[in-house]
Amino acid sequence: MSTWPPRFLFLSGRLCLDLAHTGGEGQYAKFERLHGPPDLADWLMACELAVPVARVRRPDLRIALELRAAIWKGARAILKGAAMPRAFVDTIGSVAAQPDLVPVLVRGTRRWSPGSTARQALSSVARDAIALFGSDERKRLRECRNPKCPLLFVDLSRPGRRAWCTMRRCGNLEKTTRYRRRRRASRSSASPE
Ligand SMILES: [Zn+2]
Repeated sequence: MSTWPPRFLFLSGRLCLDLAHTGGEGQYAKFERLHGPPDLADWLMACELAVPVARVRRPDLRIALELRAAIWKGARAILKGAAMPRAFVDTIGSVAAQPDLVPVLVRGTRRWSPGSTARQALSSVARDAIALFGSDERKRLRECRNPKCPLLFVDLSRPGRRAWCTMRRCGNLEKTTRYRRRRRASRSSASPE
């Protein structure tokens, strides 16, 4: 737990939210991992798409950052029960309008057609955002219950009561705080004052 957060977070259960978790502005800046085009290439390989992209350029990174901001803000709007602002709908829509990754079967395994580009991969991410935000699945969108943690996830548990981004991280922090509070309370009530 000493190395929190790891370089890339894959805990949201959703490709588009995993992209959001690579950083951003304000409260998301501490998660920033996309400092340059090679970082985006690494993320595309590490994420569930696992797509090798030969060359990521600066404009690809800029699009990824815009898409990421739109996903954060769109998700926040949904969590508040508000309509998603037009600007974010347009950003996500324009990335999704580009051709997405083309799957191919290689010896019984799904791969991506040779020469896949970052733009195609980002289109796949944007389409995932539309699939999530535009369906009943958005009702399962949650924010971590730790007030200091802005991470998001899709609650796939059957009862729909997942509360933490990670049990090992925020869930445990909560448990420890509660324990300490209880201990302090019992100590002060036991002291003769
Ligand atoms: Zn958390």
